[in-house]
Amino acid sequence: MDKGKLTQRYARQVAIPQIGAAGQARLQAARVLVIGAGGLGSPALFYLAAAGVGTLGIADDDLLSPSNLNRQILYTPAGMGQNKVEQAARRLRAFNPEITIIPHMTRVSRESGPALITDYDLVVEATDNLASKDLINELCVHARVPLVWAGVQHFEGQLSVVLPGHACRRCIFPELPEPGTPAELGIIGAVAGIIGTLQALEALKVLLGIGTPLVDQLLLWDGLHHSFEKIQVTRTANCPHCGQNEE
Ligand SMILES: [Zn+2]
Repeated sequence: MDKGKLTQRYARQVAIPQIGAAGQARLQAARVLVIGAGGLGSPALFYLAAAGVGTLGIADDDLLSPSNLNRQILYTPAGMGQNKVEQAARRLRAFNPEITIIPHMTRVSRESGPALITDYDLVVEATDNLASKDLINELCVHARVPLVWAGVQHFEGQLSVVLPGHACRRCIFPELPEPGTPAELGIIGAVAGIIGTLQALEALKVLLGIGTPLVDQLLLWDGLHHSFEKIQVTRTANCPHCGQNEE
């Protein structure tokens, strides 16, 4: 794509005063890792790609199964049984050929996570189990890499942003989950779509340094009764990850 067409592609967002050509260049230079290419990851990845984030990593070790399709809009039935990160990468490259997509066919672990995470400017946590959410929070806090995490269940979603020196996810949820506890027992796609899209927006705000990201705040959204609630959260001094007693 030549420069003129590229300019056209992003013209409607470059026209926003808080973004402009400088902001667009900042997005082009940015590297974002989305962990979990499912119900939250699908919309988050689409909108980060649409915005022109220059490098998008996708980490997931799952194969596509039929029950994914009610919310995981990156995929089609043709890819059933195949690994999701490769399919997601193909779909996103077709959607925006001007950015770099890096598939990581892996489950982020305590061993593999640090090297992966420190290769990126920001992490979007979009997994479907509580132990992974807790681990990714820990790894991002220790690596001082900004994190946008979210969770969805039934008609409800929650979302927050963790920046170095601020409250982390463990400050909000001090209890350790049982390994493998699923976060998504039941979920309708539109709810994952809304919360995943909000994750993309928070990531873009952090990358651009604009607005008020959900730092030290927890957003609770109830889609069944349509309420948004923002709760102020504070960094706890004895948090094992971000607190003063941090190892
Ligand atoms: Zn903490």
